[in-house]
Amino acid sequence: MRRVYAGVDVGGTGTVIGLFDEQRHILAKVQLDTLGSKRERFGDVDAYTKLVAHHIRDAAAQLPGDSATLVAAGFGIPGQVNPEDGVVSDATNLGWGHVPFAWIMEDLLQVPVRIDHDVRTFAKGELMAGAARGRSHAICLTIGTGIAAAIAIDGKLVRGGHNLAGEIGHDVVATLTRRCPCGKVGCLETVVSGPGISRLAAAAGLTSWQNEGEGGIPTAEDVARHCSDNNEQALGIYRYAAELLAEKLETAVALLDPEVIVIGGGVAKAGEPLFGPIRTRLHDRFPWLRGKLTVVQAELGDEAALIGAFHHVFQV
Ligand SMILES: [Zn+2]
Repeated sequence: MRRVYAGVDVGGTGTVIGLFDEQRHILAKVQLDTLGSKRERFGDVDAYTKLVAHHIRDAAAQLPGDSATLVAAGFGIPGQVNPEDGVVSDATNLGWGHVPFAWIMEDLLQVPVRIDHDVRTFAKGELMAGAARGRSHAICLTIGTGIAAAIAIDGKLVRGGHNLAGEIGHDVVATLTRRCPCGKVGCLETVVSGPGISRLAAAAGLTSWQNEGEGGIPTAEDVARHCSDNNEQALGIYRYAAELLAEKLETAVALLDPEVIVIGGGVAKAGEPLFGPIRTRLHDRFPWLRGKLTVVQAELGDEAALIGAFHHVFQV
C-alpha cells in the first residue's frame, strides 16, 4: 500500500490538486473550476468541499500501480486563514464568511488537514524548491487580482499576531485616489495588480492583443506583450507600477534585510519591465546590497502553492 499526500491550491477562479509520494515527487495534478461555470458554488462551502474531496479520492484511486492511501492533505486558501485552529474567515473571492475548513475537510477525507494563506503556501513552495531555495530570509510576492506578500525570516514564515503579515496590497500610496474594494482610498493594489494595470492601459488607449484595433479592454498580459514590442506607453505603465511597488519594498528591505525578493503571479510574467525598475531603485537606495540582494521571478508557476501546501502537511 502506497502512502500519498495531497497539496491543494484554492484560487478564486481555479483549484489545483496535487498528489505527492513520500519522496515528495508529484504523482498527479487535477484542475477544477472553484466556483463552477455559473459561479453556482459561490459561498456554498458544502458543495465545494465535497467536490474537492471527491476529486482527491478519485485522483488517488486512478494512480497507476499499487493502490494508494491518502495520509494527509494541505491547503493554500485566499482570505484570512488561521493555521492554528483551521478556520478561514472573510474569503471574499469565494463568498465564505467563517468556515472551519480544516475540520470539514478532515471529516470528509478522514485524514489530518493543514491550511494556510495561499501566498504563504506559494512562498513555502518557492523556498523549498523554487527561486528562494537555499535562502533563509526572503520576501515572496504574488501579483494577480491583487498583491500579497509572505515573509520568511531565519527560514520560517512569519504570520504576524493576527495572521495578517504581508498585506502590502492594502498599504496606501499617498498619490493614488481610487477606492479599493477593502474600503480605503489609494491602496497599492489599485495600481499594482492585474486589474490596476489593465485600467491604466485602457486609459492610455492601449488595445487588447486579440482585439487589436477593435478597442477591447487590454489585460496586464496584453500590456506586457506591448512592452516586448517596445511600446513606450506600455513600458511606462509597468515602470510606474514597479516604482510604486519598489517604494514599499524599500521600507520592507530596510526593516527585514532579505536575501531575495521573489515575485510571481500573472503580472510578474512581464519580466524586466517590472523587475528592472525595482532592482534599480533598491540597489540605488541600498548600494551595499548590490550583488547580494536579488529580485527574481518565481520559478514554479502555479505549482508553487501546490508544493507549498503539500510541504505544509509536515509542519505539525
Ligand atoms: Zn485596499
